[in-house]
Amino acid sequence: MDTNAALANWLEKGGRHIGQIAIAKKDDGWELRHADDAGRDDLQLYTKTADARSLANLDDASAYRALKTAPNLRHGWRLILPDVASVRNALDAFYPAMLGVHLARERGEIVPVNLRDTLARQTGMYRITQKLTDAQSQALIAKSCRLDGGCLKTILWRISPELPVNSLPAEKFTTPGGGEWPLLCHEACNILVAEARKVVKGEVKEG
Ligand code: SF4
Repeated sequence: MDTNAALANWLEKGGRHIGQIAIAKKDDGWELRHADDAGRDDLQLYTKTADARSLANLDDASAYRALKTAPNLRHGWRLILPDVASVRNALDAFYPAMLGVHLARERGEIVPVNLRDTLARQTGMYRITQKLTDAQSQALIAKSCRLDGGCLKTILWRISPELPVNSLPAEKFTTPGGGEWPLLCHEACNILVAEARKVVKGEVKEG
């Protein structure tokens, strides 16, 4: 099943949330809006798939959102799209790769990469991240990946085969159910690796 068909199937079965976005069926197609904006009737209307990219780029304070899965999606808009293909393209802009990663995981094609393996692959200026200690790793993950203010993804990886991440609550490692499309982290992102470099170099306070 391709991504559009899988998304159509999910919507048909009542899927209505991904990250901070609520999806609703309307007479003229599908409506996306910030889930916090449920019930508001003063939202600015957008109608093009391309609008999703600009909506995803800036937070409420017009600051650039480097991490699209950070819980700082801007408020105050609604996006009306004519069909599932348009919704798919918009969601790919709001949450890049997240439709495909979930489907690949359902097919058994996602192998989580532990943090030590991710850091072992770093070269050049990021090779130094291999010196990150286990304690520094736990503290960094707790700070950067936390659901409240860090990142909405569910972590699938461990620090090493012997060492799980134990600095965040269990909900950080549990995929949501009940009509919510999961945002999955199967390998530490570039932002976390960049922060790891700063920790090793002593450029940021740990924890
Ligand atoms: S490592 Fe994963 S969970 Fe942590 S901030 Fe990056 S994408 Fe989010």
